[in-house]
This record gives sequence, C-alpha cells and structure tokens, in this order.
Amino acid sequence: SYRKGGYHAVRIGDPFSGGRYIAQRKLGWGQFSTVWLAYDTLSSSYVALKIQKSAQQFAQAALHEIEFLSAAADGDLQNTKCVVRLIDHFKHAGPNGQHLCMVLEFLGDSLLRLIRYNRYKGLKMDKVREICRCVLTGLDYLHRELGMIHSDLKPENILLCSTIDPAKDPVRSGLTPLLEKPEGNANGGGGSSTMNLIEKKLKRRAKRAVAKISERRVSMVGGEASSKTDRSLDGIDMRCKVVDFGNACWADKQFAEEIQTRQYRAPEVILKSGYSFSVDMWSFGCTAFELVTGDMLFAPKEGNGYGEDEDHLALMMELLGKMPRKIAIGGAKSKDYFDRHGDLKRIRRLKYWPLDRLLVDKYKLPEAEAKEFAEFLSPILEFAPEKRPTAQQCLEHPWMNVVSSQNKADNVESQMRNLHIKG
Ligand code: ATP
Ligand code: MG
Ligand code: MG
Repeated sequence: SYRKGGYHAVRIGDPFSGGRYIAQRKLGWGQFSTVWLAYDTLSSSYVALKIQKSAQQFAQAALHEIEFLSAAADGDLQNTKCVVRLIDHFKHAGPNGQHLCMVLEFLGDSLLRLIRYNRYKGLKMDKVREICRCVLTGLDYLHRELGMIHSDLKPENILLCSTIDPAKDPVRSGLTPLLEKPEGNANGGGGSSTMNLIEKKLKRRAKRAVAKISERRVSMVGGEASSKTDRSLDGIDMRCKVVDFGNACWADKQFAEEIQTRQYRAPEVILKSGYSFSVDMWSFGCTAFELVTGDMLFAPKEGNGYGEDEDHLALMMELLGKMPRKIAIGGAKSKDYFDRHGDLKRIRRLKYWPLDRLLVDKYKLPEAEAKEFAEFLSPILEFAPEKRPTAQQCLEHPWMNVVSSQNKADNVESQMRNLHIKG
C-alpha cells in the first residue's frame, strides 16, 4: 500500500505543515490512513496526525470526514461533548502523491483494546456506566444539536481520553504499553516496529509504572474465570470520545443504503426500510452489551442454505422475540428473508433466550444487576426504530444514575473522614 495513491511513508522526526508538526511514533492505521503521534510545536502539545492515502477516492473520503469533524468542533467550543476534536488539516506532498492530513486531539486506546486487555471477560458495571455516559453525551450532541448520524459506532471507534502528556505518563495517558498484546494488531490500531529514543524512554517509564500496579493486576492476569471484576482498572478514569467520522451522514441527506459494521447493524438497515438517528442507538446497545460481557451481542455467520443477513435476523429474534410482522415485511429486502406471516424463510426453529436470563445464566451477572441493566438495554434494542429511546432519554434512565455498593461504601468512608477532620 506504500505506493502511488497509497499510504505516505513517515519517518520519525519528519516535519509536517511547514515544520509545525513533528512525527513521533505510529499510533495505528486503517484502510484509509496511517495515524501518527506528532508533536505540535505551535501549541507545545501532542496530537494525532491522520495521514490519508493519496488517491482521489481517499482524498474525497478525507474531505467528507473533515466536513463532519469541523461541524462537530464548531458546535463544541468548550470541547466537552465527547467527540474527537479536529485541530487542523492540510495537504502534504510526498512521493506517493498529495495526502490530506487531519490533526486530531491525541486520544488513548480504543474500547476494543480495553475489552481484549480484559480478556473478553467484560468490565465492571460502574466502568461501563462511565463509558456509556460519555458515548451517550457524544450521540446526544451529534443527533440533537447537529442532526448528524455517526453510522459506524462500535468499540473500535470509541477511544479512551488521554488527559496526560504522553511523554510523562504513558500508562495512564492511554494504557497503550499495558495493552500491547499479540492480538492487538488486527483491524489496524497496531504500532510501528520502528522505535526511537522517545519511545524507548516511554517504555522504560511505562515498565516502572506497570511494576507499581502489577500487584493489583495479578488476579486478572491469573484469569479467575468466575470473577467479573477487574481491579487493574480501578482508579482509571473511563472518559472516552467518539471517533472515525468517515461514514457519518446528515439525517436529512443520506447517501449510503448499507451502513454500519455488520455486528452493530440495525435491523432496518438489513431490511432496507429507511433509517435515522436510532441506528446509532442500536449500535450503542450492542456496544454496551459487549462492554459488560466481553462478547459481541450478535455475531452472525452464513450457514447451510442461508446467508449472514438471515442469521443476523434470527439471532435478533432469539434474543428479543419475534419481530412484529409489520416491521418484518416492511422493508425493500423483506421478501428475501421473511414469508408473508413474518417468519424467516430458511431458519425455522428459534431458541428464545431473553436478555436478563442470558446475563444471569451465561454471563453470571448477579440477578439484580442483570435486571437493572436489561431494563436499560431492552428499549434500546427495540425492533421499531421510533420506539427506541433517544440518547438524551437514555442519559436520564435510572440505570445511568445507579450508585453501586462500592461507591456507596466510598462515600460513607469519605463522609466519616470529613467528620473526623471537622471533629
Ligand atoms: P478505518 O478503516 O477504521 O476507517 P481510518 O483509516 O479511517 O480507518 P481511523 O480509524 O480514524 O483510520 O484511525 C486508525 C487508528 O489510529 C485507530 O484505530 C486508532 O488506533 C488510531 N487513532 C485514530 N485517531 C486517533 C486519535 N485521535 N488519537 C490516538 N489514536 C488514534
Ligand atoms: Mg476506524
Ligand atoms: Mg475511517
């Protein structure tokens, strides 16, 4: 891909935009771009530099992404809306052509890596709640204030915030050194094998920091199958932001019929019944489940005599019950999968396993926790798009404001301490 029209090869120390940005190390890559940690000499801070492949269609895609990122930045001057900030953009000429470059605020690891780091066991409910609050804040902003649909929400496209200077505290600035695992390279997001002095220094510091918390991590690394807790994340702030606006669209100006990554795709997209903001809510629901359990909510596969779409619809109905007939037969593709009664054509025997039972029986959540979470999630996974709650409504849901027993204990303790000090 490092040829004409493709990626731009970067060496550590390379200057960009007339010397304003200096490349430090590779943060990741995608189908369209490589992303580098760069030092911004103007603001004396670190940024993420996304360097797009140069061919016409990639440049077009970058312009599209810049349009949406700019709109998001313009409406969020305080940078509090949980959406990645576009700082700058420019063109860079290289041997493979002209590359559009986006300068983004530097963020940490994706939730996908967080899930992997946690060995697919799921995160503690309080961590999930913190993450959900951020994602919903971002979605509420995009939907209600901007009229924008993200259309590709998933754990990979939600990055943890990195509040600390990466040269000072790499562990807490993004967990990256902790998360470096052999499987970490799939779907982009890997790192470069080239290492410069800065990176070596970062690694040394990271090692020291890792040593300090390794004691607390042992239980998790040891892998107690029954434990849902992950002590190693204790005290780590789960703030995060929504990224990757390459597929975003305006609700009133849609162009793509097929949107979203397979596992996070809403039923109305599969059936081609038209879509709106609520497709993001569906993906959000799938993501929240994955954070809690470590498993994808729906992982459809093509089978003997049926395709991936039909399997996907079957999986949805096994969890959520039968799709209302009107919805099942209402899409442009309905006839491919459903008969006129609203039953699937090729997959006949469905095994119903509702969400609250699944969370208890398969994922061993405590009954009360499972019930509360299922009550939050079920309306989001409504087949009827217009019945799904909005991001704003989700933020007001009681589950978002549950105080866990641990937090209650902490509060009591701090109150006691205050009393003690006053006394
Ligand atoms: P895709 O194929 O997913 O559309 P893409 O070429 O559009 O990929 P992104 O998904 O935007 O690229 O970024 C690729 C990777 O770079 C991400 O998975 C992430 O690891 C890293 N990355 C992107 N933006 C940032 C950021 N602001 N801060 C830190 N790392 C980032
Ligand atoms: Mg991406
Ligand atoms: Mg993209």
